[in-house]
Amino acid sequence: MTTKTFADLGVAEPLCRALEAQNYTTPTPIQAQSIPALLQGRDLLGLAQTGTGKTAAFVLPILQRLAANQTKRPAKGAHVVILAPTRELAVQIGQSVETYGQNLKLRHTVIFGGVNQFRQVKALAGGVDILVATPGRLLDLMNQRHADLRQASVLVLDEADRMLDMGFIHDVKKIVAVLPKTRQSLLFSATMPSNIEHLAAEILNEPVRVEVRPEVITVDKVDQRVLHVDGKRKRELLAKLLDDSELSRVIVFTRTKHCANRVSEQLEKTGIAAEAIHGNKSQGARQRALEQFRNGKARVLVATDIAARGIDVTGITHVINYELPNEPESYVHRIGRTARAGKSGIAISFCDSSERSHLRSIEKLTKRPLTVVATTEWLGDQVAVPMNEPSDNRPARNGPRGPRHQPGKPRHFGKPGAGRGRPQSGQKQSRRHAAAQ
Ligand code: AMP
Repeated sequence: MTTKTFADLGVAEPLCRALEAQNYTTPTPIQAQSIPALLQGRDLLGLAQTGTGKTAAFVLPILQRLAANQTKRPAKGAHVVILAPTRELAVQIGQSVETYGQNLKLRHTVIFGGVNQFRQVKALAGGVDILVATPGRLLDLMNQRHADLRQASVLVLDEADRMLDMGFIHDVKKIVAVLPKTRQSLLFSATMPSNIEHLAAEILNEPVRVEVRPEVITVDKVDQRVLHVDGKRKRELLAKLLDDSELSRVIVFTRTKHCANRVSEQLEKTGIAAEAIHGNKSQGARQRALEQFRNGKARVLVATDIAARGIDVTGITHVINYELPNEPESYVHRIGRTARAGKSGIAISFCDSSERSHLRSIEKLTKRPLTVVATTEWLGDQVAVPMNEPSDNRPARNGPRGPRHQPGKPRHFGKPGAGRGRPQSGQKQSRRHAAAQ
């Protein structure tokens, strides 16, 4: 089977040029499956999460159809309404619209809560082609008559399951009720619980169903390892791991905002440029932190799960779970930050004795044990697990039984698929490492 190009899928020249500038040579599976149907104006139900290339899958056909059929922008309104659950995701979709549409003359704006509405009202006043918004603020503006969507002809609901989790579903339904019945509608969701099925049935009309399984990211592309460590020594272990310069763009996940702040402050004290993002930070502070991380000024981004949702930064070499999430699905989302768009990556999880049950739930969900790595190399001879644990870092008897690293042998977390990070000659690659190449 020959691989198709964007042009083969029917993508027009100005868009192909913008994609070339981004070095996108080959459409991802969700793009290959969605773009032709969307260009024909079909509705679509997309089962896919971030990291699959889903944003370009819907933004490209939307831009192309708008450019081919330019009509007057409706005052206070938009031709296309894209709803996203978080401000970060909305901003990123806005950036994609900007990037892919750079050779077209289309107007877009992004609207979200937590900031003054003045500029948003102003941006909407003359109408836009594409409006990207979080539901709460958009509904607010609609209620104040600053936004009028009665003439929108395309609706996209991105990360519909998150919208549901975050309690936005009523807002979404109120917004949809205002839109014309005759329109093109798209719904994307990483999971398909029955309430999303119902929502899809209400909103979509004979949709094309496209499914890209998230397991591909977890199982095939991410080298997943776990280090059993005393909770009190996590901080020291993190600092030691970061001595390795191969860990060049790292997201560290914590469960709480407090811990995110603490970890980033500690890293800064040891001279490692780090930024923290979490729900207590202002929108401006979050954007600044992300920008520092994106442009490489901050080597480490410390994030909580909610804050990290939908963040799209390419080239993340390592994801470190400083604390394991108590929901195993969050683990999948976290490690999906590395190994994006076909690249491989490394996920390192710290697990203390209180987190064993989280680890078991994760392994049950991903259906594979994480590779256990001894901490002795970084934390010295002193064993870094509590006294009641076996001395070779072996997990508790009913704990995970993954492939186990032999104590005493050095272990490095270098480039995924590129062997060990430090120049330890003659080291064999783990089987998983080799498979990631
Ligand atoms: P998304 O799933 O939309 O969040 O996209 C994940 C990442 O893949 C983003 O960084 C995109 O810029 C990138 N991407 C999307 N499509 C392609 C492609 N065809 N080739 C290379 N990278 C892509």
